[in-house]
Amino acid sequence: MRVLNYIGGDFHTPKSGQFIPNIEPATGEVYGELPDSDERDVVLAVEAAKKAFPLWKQLPLEKRFEYLYAISQRITEQLDELAEAEARDNGKPLWLAKKVDIPRAAANFRFFASALLHFFSESYEMPKGVLSYVLRQPIGIAGCIAPWNLPLYLFTWKIAPALAAGNTVVAKPSEITPVTAFLLSKICQEIDLPPGVLNIVHGYGNKVGEAIVKHPDIKVISFTGGTETGKRIAAIAAPMFKRLALELGGKNPNIIFADCDYETMMQTTLLSSFSNQGQICLCGSRIFIEKPLYERFKHDFVERTKAMKVSHPFDPEAKVGAVVSEQHKKKILSYIALAKEEGGTILTGGTEVHLETPYDKGYYVAPTIIEGLPQQCRTNQEEIFGPVVTLQPFETEEEVINLANDVPYGLSATIWSQNIRRCMRVAEQLQAGVIWINSWLLRDLRVPFGGMKNSGIGREGGFEALRFFTEPKTVTIRY
Ligand code: NDP
Repeated sequence: MRVLNYIGGDFHTPKSGQFIPNIEPATGEVYGELPDSDERDVVLAVEAAKKAFPLWKQLPLEKRFEYLYAISQRITEQLDELAEAEARDNGKPLWLAKKVDIPRAAANFRFFASALLHFFSESYEMPKGVLSYVLRQPIGIAGCIAPWNLPLYLFTWKIAPALAAGNTVVAKPSEITPVTAFLLSKICQEIDLPPGVLNIVHGYGNKVGEAIVKHPDIKVISFTGGTETGKRIAAIAAPMFKRLALELGGKNPNIIFADCDYETMMQTTLLSSFSNQGQICLCGSRIFIEKPLYERFKHDFVERTKAMKVSHPFDPEAKVGAVVSEQHKKKILSYIALAKEEGGTILTGGTEVHLETPYDKGYYVAPTIIEGLPQQCRTNQEEIFGPVVTLQPFETEEEVINLANDVPYGLSATIWSQNIRRCMRVAEQLQAGVIWINSWLLRDLRVPFGGMKNSGIGREGGFEALRFFTEPKTVTIRY
């Protein structure tokens, strides 16, 4: 599979003439290549986006709706092909890509196609015939940069609102998982999206990503990825006064009170710990259990985690697939080694898993549960982004709120209790942008989504996203 850049409606090899090997995490083998693009390709993409902007922003809303809706429908029609590509590129179980990743990518385009028809702006009257109204105009060219963990899901979560709001886009998927973005560009060509409206440039973050952030004609940047990368992007963008949304890392607490609905909590906690190999920014990697429930929870959670099958993405029984790369596998294993040094006890997992050929060189890590670590140790403070969770007992509500908040991150949190007053009280005090009570990962696309503290700035989702991708202009008239 040779991935190409999609610029001005056509497919292009990179200016450098160089390609990067694309490795399949399930086997550790090279199975394709993608462009090693650089600033020159980004410049080309910006020119195409600039040319397309006047037409795209003036298009009647219904017409813009039709294009975005057509993309959504094509994604749904090609669900099997896209899900297979995602599973192969990322290592996630195929059933998960079919059930979550690809349907959500279609939903992103469907949702924002519909939202653009309903988007509105404010107007205010003052006495004596004064009216102020707000125009919300597209900004111009939006730069969208996405990570590898939910490749098409997060890529489209940025592109769809940027386009819906009337901007043209220069986008970069992660170089580790480029294939579904490439298939999306084919879909755009098939549905005759006007050339230059969406441009996708593949390659490394420090070349293509930075060139997008630095380009003076890209006025708005939407980025999802690691906190360190986010810092670097903010440092470049701030003196250029670019509008910035940063969706960054997390170290999310999962708070379990003894009066919870035990079975629902247990089933959901297995998912919030190990779904997608723990590589979801919203996974609950720090599990706090009220003391009276601690031993029972520990016993059952360990037993049920041991029963989760680690296997290749195409095994329908696989609960945990391959982690995304060899480098990432090493990072996860190094954190497990660190946890031991910090005094943690590995209750299950803690090692690589070796599968039979042809998957014997793939990147598999057993779901891992650790207890006995102090709050301030690195394992409890830093994002691991793998199938690794820690257990911590607590006695009081106040104590667990302090522990939950005592990290640099503030992305999401989960609370389990049948006492709804307590849940609401705790939710009010947690430092997190997204909180689930007696559930996890239920997503209503209309609500604001994003983190606080080192988990980022800005919100995605619903009309928040359309506001982010438009420039408000206030007009006041005396009539
Ligand atoms: P990275 O920050 O490494 O990369 C994210 C994207 O940015 C990639 O496309 C990457 O390209 C690109 N990039 C890297 N360096 C630069 C740069 N200097 N300038 C511009 N772009 C750059 O994150 P990962 O891909 O490793 O993703 C995992 C992280 O994403 C985790 O921390 C996770 O928590 C976070 N995340 C946050 C979410 C949220 O909603 N808050 C959701 C999902 C993930 P390349 O791949 O070539 O390096």
